[in-house]
Amino acid sequence: MPIDPTQRERMRDDLRGIVRGDVLFDELSRALYATDASIFEVEPLGAVAPLDEEDLQEVVRYCASQNIPMVPRGAGTGMAGESLGSGLIIDLTRHFRKIVAIDSETVRVQPGVVLQNLNAKLAAIGRRFAPDPASAATCTIGGMLATNASGSRLIRHGYTREHVDACRIVLDNGDAVSVGRQPPTALPNQARFNDIIVQTNELLRAHAELIRTAQPRTPFNRFGYLLDGVVVNGLIDVPRMLAGSEGTLAFFTEATLRTQPLLEGRAVVLLCCGSLDAALKAVQLAEPLRPSACDLLDRRLLSLTRSASHDAESLVPNDAEALVLIEFEANTPAEAHLSARTLVDLVHARERLTLRVQMAHDPAGAAELWRMRESALPSLYGLGRGARPVAYVEDIGVPPNLLGQFLTRVQDLLQSREMTASFLVHAAAGQAHIRPFLDLSVEADVRRLEAFAEALYSIVLEFGGTVSTQHGAGIARTPWMARQYGPLYPIFRELKSIWDPKHLLNPGKIVSLEPVHPMSHLRRRLPAEAAETANARVTLLVWNPSEISAQVETCNGCGHCRIESSPARMCPLFRVTHAEQASPRAKANLLRRVLADPDPKRVSAADVRAVADLCINCKMCASECPARVNIPKLMLETKAAHFDEHGLDRSDWVLARLEGFARFSSQFSLLVNPLLGNRLARWLMEKVFGISRRRRLPPFAWRSFLRIAEERGWTKRTRPEPVAVQSGSSSGSDPFIELPPLTANHLKSKKVAYFADVFANYNDPAIAEAAVRVLEHNGFEVHVPPMQWGSGVAPLAQGDVETAREYAQQNLRVLAELVREGWRIVCSEPTAALMLTHDYLDLLDDPDAAIVAESTIELTELLWSLHEQGELRTDFTSLNLGLGHHVPCHIKALGKPARGPALLRLIPQMRVHTIDVSCSGMAGTYGLKREHYDASLIAGAPMLEELRRPRVLFGSSECSACRMQMEEGSGKRALHPVQYLALAYGLMPEVERRLRTPISESVLT
Ligand SMILES: Cc1cc2nc3c(=O)[nH]c(=O)nc-3n(C[C@H](O)[C@H](O)[C@H](O)COP(=O)(O)OP(=O)(O)OC[C@H]3O[C@@H](n4cnc5c(N)ncnc54)[C@H](O)[C@@H]3O)c2cc1C
Ligand code: SF4
Ligand code: SF4
Repeated sequence: MPIDPTQRERMRDDLRGIVRGDVLFDELSRALYATDASIFEVEPLGAVAPLDEEDLQEVVRYCASQNIPMVPRGAGTGMAGESLGSGLIIDLTRHFRKIVAIDSETVRVQPGVVLQNLNAKLAAIGRRFAPDPASAATCTIGGMLATNASGSRLIRHGYTREHVDACRIVLDNGDAVSVGRQPPTALPNQARFNDIIVQTNELLRAHAELIRTAQPRTPFNRFGYLLDGVVVNGLIDVPRMLAGSEGTLAFFTEATLRTQPLLEGRAVVLLCCGSLDAALKAVQLAEPLRPSACDLLDRRLLSLTRSASHDAESLVPNDAEALVLIEFEANTPAEAHLSARTLVDLVHARERLTLRVQMAHDPAGAAELWRMRESALPSLYGLGRGARPVAYVEDIGVPPNLLGQFLTRVQDLLQSREMTASFLVHAAAGQAHIRPFLDLSVEADVRRLEAFAEALYSIVLEFGGTVSTQHGAGIARTPWMARQYGPLYPIFRELKSIWDPKHLLNPGKIVSLEPVHPMSHLRRRLPAEAAETANARVTLLVWNPSEISAQVETCNGCGHCRIESSPARMCPLFRVTHAEQASPRAKANLLRRVLADPDPKRVSAADVRAVADLCINCKMCASECPARVNIPKLMLETKAAHFDEHGLDRSDWVLARLEGFARFSSQFSLLVNPLLGNRLARWLMEKVFGISRRRRLPPFAWRSFLRIAEERGWTKRTRPEPVAVQSGSSSGSDPFIELPPLTANHLKSKKVAYFADVFANYNDPAIAEAAVRVLEHNGFEVHVPPMQWGSGVAPLAQGDVETAREYAQQNLRVLAELVREGWRIVCSEPTAALMLTHDYLDLLDDPDAAIVAESTIELTELLWSLHEQGELRTDFTSLNLGLGHHVPCHIKALGKPARGPALLRLIPQMRVHTIDVSCSGMAGTYGLKREHYDASLIAGAPMLEELRRPRVLFGSSECSACRMQMEEGSGKRALHPVQYLALAYGLMPEVERRLRTPISESVLT
């Protein structure tokens, strides 16, 4: 749809006058909505996120009047490009998020509700919405309805369409109507709908026989308009017919879904087989036992899964050629167990089809086996450049009894074309997700893919199968619609012209007026020269050659980073805004666009910075993204480029220089502290520096910890013989460098240099003091390097890389020498530990950065290692306290389990409730700013809710910013775990007084 910029601007202005929701027409927003989880890319005209149904109606009316195509969009996790288009993207995830009503057997929801969030709510009343796509954590009910989604348990629970009672829909002319099983007669005041329903009825009746017969021979199919079983007792089941229509007939704005009881019995069996044949035989033997799921992984997928998942490595023997996971659901655990036992006896003991069998009939064991199977798909994403498993022909279904023969034919086909592929097969349903390994940046591979699809689909149709059983027709599979359905295809076209005569609703999907050429929409790879020059354009941080472009292209758009539920943590700002721009996926798309721009300065533009500012460097996506894309580093680089060109605004400049202000304020604390509680001063601070007047600020210590340390003699050190220290590579951008485990030798030396960082130095030296005392109590020789500076995270977070580098250089000068002398560096502030172990490697290509990274450990990790060696003193007095311990993002980002709660539980009578549900929302200095105050509290709300529980008397967390938020949001005192340890050891009785002192209204004390 060619549109010139003037037309686009006019449309944008028109829509801004009409729509109450968001209207996004700028270049970057268009780029962010140009991709989904498929291999395609189509730049839209713009995007809108309507506020409610009326708003959507206005948009549709406007588009209808201007002939603008409309593309409804859920989470964009579709794999066939079904939510892409050159028209207006209508994002229904941002505002249509309400669960309207939960009844005993049904639930009424808006389309933007995420399946996993819905099921979390339903679980509270012992129910669930049964269709279970693997993307449940992110996909929306609207997307599920529109693709007629299903999952591994399809054989038991069927497709989404089988669980819908009624819907509200918006038609092509903007009319909204509630639909269910409709008589083909007129509804009052619904002229357009009456027209549609009468014509649809005629069409369905006239072609009833064709609709019945022109179907694939497989019982599982979701391709095309699903017209079978739609007319029941003379009524048209409109929701059932619209399910799977991929937004081409109407918009869903609400749905009434039937729910199922959560069953008590579940047993899972994992069969490791020596051949694909044996695995398929085992599946056949399982079928009479009526399993609820039956997933098969081939050798290639198995080996990828084994290398990506520790669970798989230990559960699956090396010589396994195929693996089958079979699940039984039943009303009671005993019933489920019996089925599983019967299967094992049959396939393992009697038929000897398996090398190894695992059975689990308890929830934890079953979850572990499922986790292993679920890690299969993400393992495909972690592969970098070059040949990767391509999702294009991945949605095939054949009659289940022909599956074995079909797979043999496919393997022959692959062999004849010298291609390899991974297979994930829902075996009992005859569904095969086949992903050939190809490099789509190479033209020859693109052609091979086209030819392979052609040959493969011919086999599928020969077997009476379908080209789509699960994922969608979209751009990828619409071209095969006519071939699969033959005489039924013209009926699809008629249906489309009844509902959407102008072809404005998601045009080109399912039926198309023009031929669809999927390969012309292939997602653009970075042009070769852009990939080559990416590092030269934006290299304010340390990158390996061509690493930036490789990182950007490794993001496959899967959308997993839109997850909103625990235990996942990413992405705090997405969870607050629900805006695509805030998602980590958007950040990868942003850089892909910017790097492809001929203007090398594009990266430093204000609009780019605005998207980059939607990353608060919590680093959670870097560890939770299945492809391990290092989004936070990419965003730091982007902010750095902006800083390099434009500097900082006043507020960011102040935050970047936090350490200088803290040093100054500590020196003049007698003057400064009263001002922190003074309304006028806080108002002024907000006006001048942008620091929220609502945020209670921590007072400054009148003596910094480094001064205290000097007075106590902690800054002196013995000078042992230097030790040889091996350094690794210094240019590390792997977000999770495996640091060497703390060995017995390291512990024996018991010499640690304590790194305090800003907060413990200038605001709360009691933390640093507790750290030193607890370490000494446990026999450590502690040295406090007097020339240490803060870690430099504040300037780095603002993109002021030069200042951050100065901090890094100073600290490395001090710390590397200590490491060479045999000292280990210990940090009580997780962010400081992260800076020393990861970010300094990104800031400086310096061997000292590597040796400091390898020798740095976070305090609770050190103490826990000591405990594991049996060397932590346990001469604690009991503390009868109920604590809520919040696990900070940066503790998780260090890549080890959080040790704080376990350490605290060593204290007699201490009751510790681990809070690991969300970011605290502070994100360093983010929550200090006026414009972020509310968002910060929303981001931290799940954590605060846990903290407010009556059984939790006090808070605990390693991170100083998190503790600020904990006190601010709950009114409960929050300390570093080492302070509780110091109290329990009897080293710092004054901690008890601190716990008793109420938190001041205006200033944190
Ligand atoms: C890792 C991964 C695993 C997956 N596993 C499965 C699986 O097991 N089973 C499965 O079925 N799918 C699976 N999918 C595909 C995808 O998640 C599903 O198709 C899902 O239902 C799409 O939901 P969505 O919210 O992302 O919708 P989108 O992808 O945004 O949109 C899908 C379609 O729905 C339309 N649409 C969205 N909202 C509306 C609305 N309100 N009204 C009208 N039309 C609308 C869009 O126009 C589009 O045609 C997987 C995807 C990924 C990335
Ligand atoms: S950043 Fe990771 S999780 Fe997000 S879309 Fe990209 S690959 Fe998927
Ligand atoms: S680092 Fe954190 S804030 Fe930034 S994109 Fe990733 S999850 Fe979101």
